[in-house]
Amino acid sequence: MRRKLAAGNWKMNGTAASLAELEALKSLLPADTPDVVICPPAPLLFRATQAAKGTSIRIGAQDCHMQASGAFTGDISADMIADTGATYVIVGHSERREAHEERDRDVRKKAKSAWAADLTAIICIGETLEDHEANNTLDIIAGQLAGSLPGEMTPTNTVIAYEPIWAIGTGKVPTLDQIVEVHDFIRERITTRYGAPVAELIPLLYGGSVKPDNAAMIFQAENVDGALVGGASLKAADFGPIISAL
Ligand code: 13P
Repeated sequence: MRRKLAAGNWKMNGTAASLAELEALKSLLPADTPDVVICPPAPLLFRATQAAKGTSIRIGAQDCHMQASGAFTGDISADMIADTGATYVIVGHSERREAHEERDRDVRKKAKSAWAADLTAIICIGETLEDHEANNTLDIIAGQLAGSLPGEMTPTNTVIAYEPIWAIGTGKVPTLDQIVEVHDFIRERITTRYGAPVAELIPLLYGGSVKPDNAAMIFQAENVDGALVGGASLKAADFGPIISAL
């Protein structure tokens, strides 16, 4: 059985007061809760791990540097993230690929540095609107998978998140058929490269405008094992129902 996972990416939102939402989420978790990960901004990581103590909620960062340490002003290493008690890190989010010009090979190195610190990497991929409209989605995804996933990937060190860029923060969501097509394709590609035992167990998340009212539709896809949620993860009242739908 593949594990199910709901991850919340707070992006550059939240201060210490926002941890009240994490407190509120604790009481909304269903009894048979899937894995839940909250990725707050880096300054909140330590406090978030303290707030999540004794619960099944895990904490993750939103990025890490590819090097273990050194003269990289303003950057954060995977070891530093692990030192806060966090156990996950998102790498290759499209907002970083765009704004920080991260390439597939950078993402691959970041995933490896995450593993070296015993963090689980949530590796993100996804096509632009232009590529979507030109029917290039599967080619783009194939290229990103080939370039971003290290050869040593296992079901315990990695989660893959498919986030079509045109669906992020727009309220536009692919149809169920489109989600099924891409997620089936990702699972197939991983099977070809890593073999069925790895591919069968790697959690595949969908991300992009997941809300309480569309989560159940999205989770119908057999190869969707959860969601990477932005805006709707900021409020426990929104994230709670998404987790329950999983
Ligand atoms: P939204 O859920 O706000 O569309 O963001 C998705 C996302 O980018 C999560 O990483």
